[in-house]
Amino acid sequence: MRSILPPRRRVLLAAAGLCLSAAFGAAHAAEPLKAVASFSILGDIVREVGGNDISLTTLVGPDGDAHEYEPTPGDAKKLSAARVLFVNGLDFETWLPKLTKAAGFAGQTVVASQGVTPRKFAEQGDAGKQEDHGDDHDHDHDHDHDHDHDQDGHHHHGDADPHAWQDLANGVIYARNVAEGLAAADPAHAANYRQRATAYIAKLQALDAHAKKTFAAIPAERRKVVTSHDAFGYFGAAYGVVFVSAMGVSTDAEPSAGEVAAIIEQVRRERVPAVFVENITSPRLVQQIARETGAKVGGTLYSDALSKPGQPGATYLEMFEWNVRQLAAALQP
Ligand SMILES: [Zn+2]
Repeated sequence: MRSILPPRRRVLLAAAGLCLSAAFGAAHAAEPLKAVASFSILGDIVREVGGNDISLTTLVGPDGDAHEYEPTPGDAKKLSAARVLFVNGLDFETWLPKLTKAAGFAGQTVVASQGVTPRKFAEQGDAGKQEDHGDDHDHDHDHDHDHDHDQDGHHHHGDADPHAWQDLANGVIYARNVAEGLAAADPAHAANYRQRATAYIAKLQALDAHAKKTFAAIPAERRKVVTSHDAFGYFGAAYGVVFVSAMGVSTDAEPSAGEVAAIIEQVRRERVPAVFVENITSPRLVQQIARETGAKVGGTLYSDALSKPGQPGATYLEMFEWNVRQLAAALQP
């Protein structure tokens, strides 16, 4: 059969066809794994370990409060397209089960805190009796901070403290779980995930050693701080700092006058040198405590969320280093 094209053109066209199909094939094989993380700190860990092999969506963004999040229809859409979902666990994301159901999410869920030794909340109250929190929560949608106590002293959601990322040794566990979760969902890139996790874990461990050294150099009686909500139990245990949380109750509702008076009395009695505000809570209460006790306001700590880009806590490593530096500066004699 005679072609209307000269032989040379025919060869070029055939080559172009091959190139096109090769390009499509490659693009398909290299399409990044769709992953979703529940909140910004975990999202950063997933981004570090996943690198270019994943396409990541984070639900609760910078400065957001993942205790109280209200998912959007857009979240459900993102989740329905995802192959793997990373969550903190320890009853942190109480709004997630409803969302995964609404999204018809059929992928794998990875609990980043799996293997962490959970801490109990150190607050007084009826810690032994836990309510059926599903029922409690449904009838008490008053934006109370979820893990705190209501007027009767009951926990709203479980007794385990979810803020495990505030100990870098737990951050290492998170990174390992993320790597194994990604490797299971995307075995073709398993080596990449494990390699990135190993490099990242080395940085976490170096910062952990630095934090321990920093606080060990400060006299024990100076290592006391007031923060807004009870988010630093793991930090305190790991690095030898006593945290008094001003908001035994909620991020929105005001504690009673009696509760505030008790905290002020404790700050005076124990000579707590500094109070800190958090990036996710209102600064009002701790500012009042500082005014009435003479404790200094040490600055802002990143508790449950990263900062926006360009601010000091835009990554997990940066927020942690910032917290260590701010605390150490305020507690130094
Ligand atoms: Zn919290």
